[in-house]
Amino acid sequence: MTRAHAGFAGVVQHGWPRPRGWAPAERLDGLDVSTLPGVGPTMAKRLRAFGIETVRDLLLHAPRRYEPAAAELPIAELPFGDDVVVVGVVRSIRVRPLGRRRTQTSALVADESGEIVASWFNQPWVADRLRPGTRVRLRGRRSRFGLDVRSHDVGEARATANFAPVYPAGEQIASTRLRELVRGALAAHGRSLPDPLPAELELPLHRDALAALHFPADEAEAELARRRLALDELVAFQLAVGRLRRTDAVAPSLALPGELIERYRAVLPFALTEHQERAIMEIDLDLAQTTPMRRLLQGDVGSGKTVVALYALLRAVENGRQGALMAPTATLAEQHFLTLESLCTPLGVEVALLTGAVKGSVEAPIVVGTHALIQPEVAFRDLAVAVVDEQHRFGVEQRRALAEGRSPHVLHMTATPIPRTLALTIYGDLAVSEIAKPPASRKPIVTARVGAERSSDAYSRLRVHLDAGRQAYVVCPLIEQSETRLARAAEAEAERLRRGELAGYRVGLLHGRLKPAERREVMRQFAAHELDVLVATTVIEVGVDVPNATIMIVQEADRFGLAQLHQLRGRVGRGSEQSYCLLVSRPVEELSETAERRLQALVDTTDGFELAEADLDLRREGALLGTRQSGWSDLRFTRLRLDRDLIEEARRLADGLREEDGPWQDAADRLLADGEPSA
Ligand code: ADP
Ligand code: MG
Repeated sequence: MTRAHAGFAGVVQHGWPRPRGWAPAERLDGLDVSTLPGVGPTMAKRLRAFGIETVRDLLLHAPRRYEPAAAELPIAELPFGDDVVVVGVVRSIRVRPLGRRRTQTSALVADESGEIVASWFNQPWVADRLRPGTRVRLRGRRSRFGLDVRSHDVGEARATANFAPVYPAGEQIASTRLRELVRGALAAHGRSLPDPLPAELELPLHRDALAALHFPADEAEAELARRRLALDELVAFQLAVGRLRRTDAVAPSLALPGELIERYRAVLPFALTEHQERAIMEIDLDLAQTTPMRRLLQGDVGSGKTVVALYALLRAVENGRQGALMAPTATLAEQHFLTLESLCTPLGVEVALLTGAVKGSVEAPIVVGTHALIQPEVAFRDLAVAVVDEQHRFGVEQRRALAEGRSPHVLHMTATPIPRTLALTIYGDLAVSEIAKPPASRKPIVTARVGAERSSDAYSRLRVHLDAGRQAYVVCPLIEQSETRLARAAEAEAERLRRGELAGYRVGLLHGRLKPAERREVMRQFAAHELDVLVATTVIEVGVDVPNATIMIVQEADRFGLAQLHQLRGRVGRGSEQSYCLLVSRPVEELSETAERRLQALVDTTDGFELAEADLDLRREGALLGTRQSGWSDLRFTRLRLDRDLIEEARRLADGLREEDGPWQDAADRLLADGEPSA
């Protein structure tokens, strides 16, 4: 029995004979897509927009979904509802305009049992191809008016075949076109794809997996193909992580917690939770070593990571050394600065904010800034502990620069939680601490969707909270690309609300174009309840912390990403009161499928892990194509929850492999490449 799965015969059925023996390892990485027949300069450019440059990229461009199985039926017996397939002859065909730039093409199609009117919308060219007398195969749905055609074939069943792939490229490149390109690429190169894994798994060969990814016989085969490709990328990932693990840097060993830490605990207005205490204990154990700490602190938004991070920083201070906290953007750094400063002032510990170009020597015991702090030009007096916030926005390479340039103990924080066992593997170079539960006083935030036409209801609801002495956020739409125009739009919106829905309330404004001092002042006012409502752009996404704020309205919520909405929502629900998040959006009918699913995911759960999963799924559908992020979010075939066995298997396999021995190096390089901080 080969390791090709028994249920994998469909690959052969589709005309991809299983090759015998090993083919020469042709490097498809280097083979430009334009070498494929049918790919001219225009097509090459469109493909590039989707990150497809080589033949290999094309073959790894996974379908978004597959056409479902549909029965081929006589015309006289077509049911309403499900997809059906009809085979018949075109009797007549015509195109008519339906108003501005819209057309309907109608063909009368007949088989032995009867005839039906088949319609295509906005594809007038169909009439040129399907002349009367042509034998066609149609896939579509029966409607009151006839058959609404979704795809058709003349000759061999391809577009209309069951499980025909539908690609995320959508508007720019038709799926039918991509199918033909992929078919051509498989025919030309399918036999010579290298298959380096000595796996004994019940998984198909790499080349068969690629063929089945695009042209599976059924769902099960597509899933097996996905799993095989997931294994390949996970092995590359493990090898990449292995590179990072190799370090012989030395860090200062810190003495046990003392008097400063005691005062810190006394200053906090609450007792730390069991989860926070455990994280702190794990950090203390690391800090006592001379091997630099490389720990990931993960916990959902609002779970209380910041107090733990400050604990680690203060441990450095109490040993006469320095601590630094780095955020992915200047705005976030400023917000962290405010939080840390308010906690450190009563302790008599100075906190400095360094944004922009930093040069020369840094003296303050605690420094907050952006990743500019890791540049070699920045000279710390004696940096012992570094905290990196929103770890997933830092490229793995940056992680390494931080660990190698000098050797402080490093704590990474992320609010994109994944289960501990997975994190251990995926962030293979880090140890993991987890704040699995928020402080007990917390109630899950209630999230609801509101159609734009009912947004005044949302504001009535908000005023109820204000009248009860609570505070609120209104998040402005993400309409403009530039920070300046975004700021102007936010100003206009705040003005509109002051005169309209929020007349009589104290409304403040926060956006990215305010000077740091102005921004700090607004935040101070809101925290001191000198403002009732904060109208803001996404600058409030991370770090703003006002427990008395219990309701948030997000305008045009469909324009935001899932992770971003989750972060925004995390600004409420920080106290013991029940909190609400109202997502205002266009009516459901006008939303794209992904926008619809994004919003619904937020209503359905407040669990950051579930949302991270959903986000990965939706991203694969192209929402964020072109905006590359580093690390595990680049794993395109892996489903974190389904593939734990594969992750284990990849780790085992990677132990026995060397990067040089397989085609992993490019994939590994790509995974290690710098991700631009995305906020
Ligand atoms: P995160 O950084 O994980 O999003 P924060 O550290 O900002 O979360 O904490 C969110 C809120 O919870 C803050 O208002 C913080 O003061 C509060 N908080 C943190 N730890 C506790 C605790 N143990 N008990 C009660 N409230 C806490
Ligand atoms: Mg935080």
